[in-house]
Amino acid sequence: MSIERTITGVYRGAPFHWVGDGFRVSNYFQSGNNFGRKISPFLLLDYHAPFHYAPTDNQKRGVGPHPHRGFETVTLAFAGSVTHHDSAGNGGIIDAGDVQWMTAGKGILHREYHEKNFARSGGTLHAIQLWVNLPRAHKMDEPHYQGIVAAHMGHVELPDNSGYVRIIAGKYQGTKGPARTYTPINLFDIHMQPGGHAHFSFPAHENTMMLVMSGAVTINNTTSATAADFVLFDNTGENITINAQSVAHLVLLNGEPIHEPFVQYGPFVMTTEQEIRTAIDDFNSGAFGNLEN
Ligand code: MN
Repeated sequence: MSIERTITGVYRGAPFHWVGDGFRVSNYFQSGNNFGRKISPFLLLDYHAPFHYAPTDNQKRGVGPHPHRGFETVTLAFAGSVTHHDSAGNGGIIDAGDVQWMTAGKGILHREYHEKNFARSGGTLHAIQLWVNLPRAHKMDEPHYQGIVAAHMGHVELPDNSGYVRIIAGKYQGTKGPARTYTPINLFDIHMQPGGHAHFSFPAHENTMMLVMSGAVTINNTTSATAADFVLFDNTGENITINAQSVAHLVLLNGEPIHEPFVQYGPFVMTTEQEIRTAIDDFNSGAFGNLEN
């Protein structure tokens, strides 16, 4: 018999900091800090709450070329528009509702800027960036990326006009999301109406967490959470019930933990210290390729 999943706690993000000059984010977790293994396979969550940018002629508002190795960066845009280019020759635009799932694998350089028309007109950017660990066997895979547009997301209407769930990765009530992942992951974008309810169930050993981006909800009839709250669940019980008191927007993360050691050094996440030293040497010798500003 399934039982309700218990809640570890409800947390606030760190004070806002700037990533380059274009991303005003609050960090909710990073590998090595606060939540230990309870967040695996996720390594980092930076939340860019809605923030209005003035118009600019600067076509490089954001972050210039920088490396990654050994994991994936996943960018979810809810409002605004971001362009990216990488040293593998890939590039694209992440518009509102889209997701970019980039597998850095053995190493890549990329840059992330406000899309040029968005920069010129100014406007509100609302986004999340997640870092997802790769299992050791795939850390040195060829880099690649998935540009997933809003129209390709899985979509499930919740009963009783409660709202809807967009499935980015994994499966909800039989509907699959388009993202291909190396380890089992569910990533859901949840939109709820006042008085709405939603139910989720995941095996207890899978790690599960949720960020409330707007509105007010009650979880499992016990715990209240409002905008900017991060809810971490225990590995006890399976079922999660969400009741919305207002229009609410949440993202739910679930995944099978990766039971391997890892070492993070800045933009490199590997299995051993030696592999980190190799990553630094490879980066310094130009093995990640070239990418103009
Ligand atoms: Mn990056």
